[in-house]
This record gives sequence, structure tokens and C-alpha cells, in this order.
Amino acid sequence: MGIEDDDIASVRAATDVVGVIGEHVALKRVGRRWVGLCPFHSENSGSFSVNAEEKLYYCFGCGARGDVITFVREIEHLDFVGAVEKLAAKAGITLRYTDEGQGEGRKRRARLLDAVGQAVDWYHERLLSAPDAAPARGYLRSRGLTGDDVRAYKVGWAPDAWDELARALKVPTEVLVEAGLGFLNSRGRPTDAFRGRVLFPIYDVSGDPVGFGGRIMPGHDGAKYKNSVDSAVYNKSRLLYGLNWSKADIVRADESIVCEGYTDVIGFAKAGVPRAVATCGTSLTEEHVKLLRSFARRMVLAFDADAAGQNAAERVYAWERQYDLDIAVAALPGGVDPAELAQSDPGALAAAVSGAKPFLKFRLDRVLDAAHLDTPEQRARAAEAAMAVVQEHPSDLVRDQYLMEVAARCRVDPDQLRNRRFEPAKKPEGRPSRPAHRDESEPPPRGSAVRPDAPRRAALPRDTAETEALRLMVWRRDEIAPWLDESLFADAVSAAAYRALISTASVADAISAAGAEDREAEDLLQRVAVEETDAEPRAVLERLVDGAANRALSTLKTQARVVDDPFEVGASIAWLSLRIMELREPDTNEVALEQLLGWLTGRPEEEA
Ligand SMILES: [Zn+2]
Repeated sequence: MGIEDDDIASVRAATDVVGVIGEHVALKRVGRRWVGLCPFHSENSGSFSVNAEEKLYYCFGCGARGDVITFVREIEHLDFVGAVEKLAAKAGITLRYTDEGQGEGRKRRARLLDAVGQAVDWYHERLLSAPDAAPARGYLRSRGLTGDDVRAYKVGWAPDAWDELARALKVPTEVLVEAGLGFLNSRGRPTDAFRGRVLFPIYDVSGDPVGFGGRIMPGHDGAKYKNSVDSAVYNKSRLLYGLNWSKADIVRADESIVCEGYTDVIGFAKAGVPRAVATCGTSLTEEHVKLLRSFARRMVLAFDADAAGQNAAERVYAWERQYDLDIAVAALPGGVDPAELAQSDPGALAAAVSGAKPFLKFRLDRVLDAAHLDTPEQRARAAEAAMAVVQEHPSDLVRDQYLMEVAARCRVDPDQLRNRRFEPAKKPEGRPSRPAHRDESEPPPRGSAVRPDAPRRAALPRDTAETEALRLMVWRRDEIAPWLDESLFADAVSAAAYRALISTASVADAISAAGAEDREAEDLLQRVAVEETDAEPRAVLERLVDGAANRALSTLKTQARVVDDPFEVGASIAWLSLRIMELREPDTNEVALEQLLGWLTGRPEEEA
């Protein structure tokens, strides 16, 4: 079944969990824990905790939890084997497989990545040296890309021919087709997917080459842009060009920039704003937004975000609310794309980002800047058009502030505006107009694009001495383990968690052991594994013993009513009551604790 257990254990052991999670979450050290904003739900409070020693994480907001392998699975949408393989590759561990079938699936993915990687090199070499690539080199120069840029981004050239790549690559035909590099023509011959195009290799978030975005040379027939088809390694609704390079800067700045073209991404980097990404032949999807939100809270749109009109606005506001995001629009000079601006005035490009406006402000300015405000009639019309935009915003507080602005600029009474309904802004006729260099401009259907995932409910916190004892077992085991006993736990879930902890060597093992027995115990262990405690072990023990002794006392009192020999039970009741009183007195509590522990756990007192 998949990978040898020993190898999985070595991968876990060799992995720096803070390093791996830190690629996706800005983590801050708090005591022996690390804390950050949860990448699995939207928040601004930092409910996400990591225990670096045990390599476990837990979110108090949504209940996301697990070990470093779970994390990689969830964040990168991999299966178990894929996640282990990814971490193994990082740690330089060679995996052994126990099952041919599973190994095959992994090998297939590796074959596809290898084929795309070979194609990247082949196309790149072709661009650098082939005579037929001279116009492409000229075009890239005209777009401001130097030879160094071309090499850094491995830009390539697909010759205007039928099957040069197919013949050059040393890969089987089915791999060529599966990787989206070619297809079989009507006579069953392998044929190249890209012809006569400048190619930008597209990498996934971890930097593996997965496909291409191809631009036709100016003046040639065909769609301006053509991208790889979706494959086992390429998924356009999740991929963002440039994220592999920009993610560290995005986390540092807590801001991502979304543009539309590959040369825009490169332009931003050259202008000293290396945190741009581009969608790959599709509009921005909710998947993209979630992915970017796991790196940064602010998102700046550096394209004509208004062109798609009202539908786009609804999505933007829904995303802002759903994911606790700020979406702003870069103030690009009209009609200029970022790549052009990077070339002509890099400072202005950086300024367009720092001067980005909230989405509603951007739309409102667009309406009012275009309006004539000379006559009362014109101002009234402009106010109506502006209010139609304002009322799309879901927050009445936000709406009212913009309403004041509309009233001031159009010189109308704010109360007049407040008491009226305005016609919604007109939806664009037919297909929404998009900037010309898009090939798939259909926005995702409304509703499906904004449907929130229901957050997973976190278990109710059980904050008792028993939970505290479990925390101590995780974080400072030696200071409490010798005195603990299952009989001290009243709560069945805590008792199961305790059993799992004492019967295994590591917390991760305890979690899997508990999981086989009791899901709630597993959950509890996953939570305490990230809850460092500064509790005093002795005080916790006292509370546990106090509780257990009182439970024993009430059992005895019940017995006393039904047994034949109330005397014997009566003596026990008296003894126990006295010890409990002593336990609560500073002078006597040390001895009482030992006596009670011995009595409750059935162990000789000397041992305790
Ligand atoms: Zn969460």
C-alpha cells in the first residue's frame, strides 16, 4: 500500500515543518509554538498553530489539523503519496514502494513533468540559437526583455513546423500527448501542440514546469494566446504564472499583484515589484483567490478590472467578505499594460501599485471622471449612475461613505440619495468586453464562482485539568508522566487520548493510534499538540487527583446505601473525605497527594 512505513517515518523526521508550512503561512514564534493566519479559512486573528518538534499543526478557527504530510496534501491538493514524494524529494530521501500500482501513478506524473521539462529546454535553446527564431528574439526585445530575462524565465520558441518537438523529445507518444505537448493528427502521427509561437514556460507553485503559454507573433493568423490544455499536471483554474518566483515576496509584503500577461509579471519583477502573478488563459477564479489569500491579505488587480462590469464587481465583493481580503485596483494610466509601463517608466508602475484604490473607489471614479458635471441635469444623471455602482457594495457602512462622496461631487443632498433606489448598473451587452490579449474571457458562472466552502467546525474546547495534563504529556512529558494514570481521567475521550500517548513513542504515533480507536481523541490530541502550556505539573496533578477522589467518594456514598456492610464502606468514606480535605491544605497536601495517588491508582505509595 503505497510507500514503505519506514520511509514515511524518515521523511517526517527529515522535514522541517516550520520551513514547509512557512512557505505558505507567515509564522511567528510564540514560546515553543509557531502561530500564523490559517491558510485553510479566512481570518485575521492567527488561529493556526504549529508544533515544530512534533511536526503537527492545528487551527482553532476551522479545525484543520494534521502533520506535515497532511499539510502538503491539503495546501497543494496532492494525495498522500504525492505529498510524501514531494517532501522526500526536498529531503533527498529515496522512497521504496510497497505496491506497484501506486508507484506507477507517481511515475506517470514524474514522466509528464520530465517531458515538459525537456520541452522547456528544447524550446528555450531554439529561441536562443535558431535562425528561424530571430523575429521572436526581436519581438521579445521590443517588449523590453533582455537576453538575461529570456534566460531567467526560460522563454522559448516553437518553430512553425509540424513535428519538430515530437521528433526531438525522447518521450513516448502517449506521454507527449498526455503532457499537452502534442496530439495525434488524422493519420495518427504525433504533431506538435505549439507552432510559430513565443512560449512562456508555466511552473506550479513549487517550481515544477507543467505547461506553456504561447503567444503568436504579431501579424500572424491565429489566436493571440494559446495555453497548454489541462492535464494531470496542468490545471488552469488553479495555476498562476509567476507564483513560484513571487511567493516569498508576496508573503513579505502581505500583498499580491494579479495581472494578465506573462510579460506583465516579468515587467513587475524588473520594476522592483517582484510579487506579480498572472492567470493562464482564464479569468481569475475562486481557486486562484483562495490560493493567493493563503499568501497575503491584500490583492492588487493590475488589469482593467472594470471591463467585465457588474458580474466582476459582485465576485470581488463576495471574495472580500468570504476570504477577509482587500482587493484594490492599480491606477495604471489608461490603455497602458504593466509590461509597457515597466519599460517606459518603472517608477510609475511601482507607484500604480502603491496608489491602488479600493475596488469600489476605482469603479466610482471611473463613472464620475467620465461624466459631465456642468449642468444640474448632468449632475443628477451622474449621481444616479454613480449610485448604481455604489449600491452594489454589500456593506451599508461602506455604501454610505461613498454616497457622501457622490453627493459632494455631484452637489446633491445626501438624504435625497439615501432615500432612493437606483437602477443597477447596466450589464454589458453579450460577451463582456475584455482587454484584447485574452483568449478565454468568459467569466466563471456566477454563484459557482463565489460559493463559499462551509468551514469545518472545530471541536468544542474542553478546558479541564485533564486537557492540561494531556498538554503536559505532549510538551513536558517527563514532568508529569510518572504520576499519571488512566484512572485519573473521568472523560472517556481524554482517557483514550492518554492511553494513546503512553502506549506510543511520539505524539504523531499517538494521534494515529487514537484515530483508530476514537475520532474525538484523535482531534483532542491534534489540538493539544499545538497548545504549549506553562502550567505547573504538580498543580495539574492535584486538580486531577482532587477530581478523581471526589468521584470515588460519591461512588462510595452510593454504595453505602446498598451494601450489607456499611461500616466497611463508611470507613473508606471517612478516610477519603479526610485525604481530600488535607489535599486542599498547604501543610498537608504533599502527603495527601501521595496517599490519594496510591489509593486511586492501586500503586504502592512509595512509588509515587
Ligand atoms: Zn483555519
